[in-house]
Amino acid sequence: MSEAVYGEEVMGRITHGLLRLSTAMRSQAWSWAESAGLTPTQGEILVLLMQGKTALRLGEIARQTALTAATTSDAVSTLESKGLVEKRRAVDDGRALAVKLTPKGRTAAKRAALWPNFLQSAASSLPIEEQGALYRSLLKMIRELEVKAHIPAHRMCLSCEHFEPLADLGKETKAARKTTRRTRSAAPVHHCNALLIDYPDTGVRLDCHAWDLGSEAKQKKNWKIFVQPV
Ligand code: SF4
Repeated sequence: MSEAVYGEEVMGRITHGLLRLSTAMRSQAWSWAESAGLTPTQGEILVLLMQGKTALRLGEIARQTALTAATTSDAVSTLESKGLVEKRRAVDDGRALAVKLTPKGRTAAKRAALWPNFLQSAASSLPIEEQGALYRSLLKMIRELEVKAHIPAHRMCLSCEHFEPLADLGKETKAARKTTRRTRSAAPVHHCNALLIDYPDTGVRLDCHAWDLGSEAKQKKNWKIFVQPV
């Protein structure tokens, strides 16, 4: 396909590059799913249930996977017929149903979580500073897509009440601050007030069990500090 379809400017080239990655992801996801007798959507739901650790309602599965209610319901019914998930009464509402993995489903979910390994392998070929810069750019793009409602919100540090970005730099000089930012892909520049840990940009979480939605003011502050140029 001609690059001109997406334009010759850098935005067009980035879009083209991301679309090539999505082609690789689709191809690898289908390849894995066919070998497991599932669809990529079913595999994604299994991994989601494994990550969540608790039973999830159909509506929550649909929200987190950005699938329609009908597609989610069909996929879960198929997984149930294969003995990979089971439905039970939701703990917080006896009238609602929640979906959880069976032991067989947990084994399948562990295998499903491995199909993106090819991406991990490609990313690991980058120098460590580039890995940090790439992850930082991805976090920014994910947040931008969240704000525009193109993808569901994540339980990520950037929107969390407990996140203290660049926490250990408060008393440092401007020069020291600049130096630390250069190494922020490796240096522990952020702090979590819930887990009491310090971590670098590469430690910022995308899906955290201890996440608490920050107030609007807190989210704005997190974002303002995080996006300061490196
Ligand atoms: S590690 Fe978890 S609890 Fe801590 S700031 Fe990040 S999302 Fe929030």
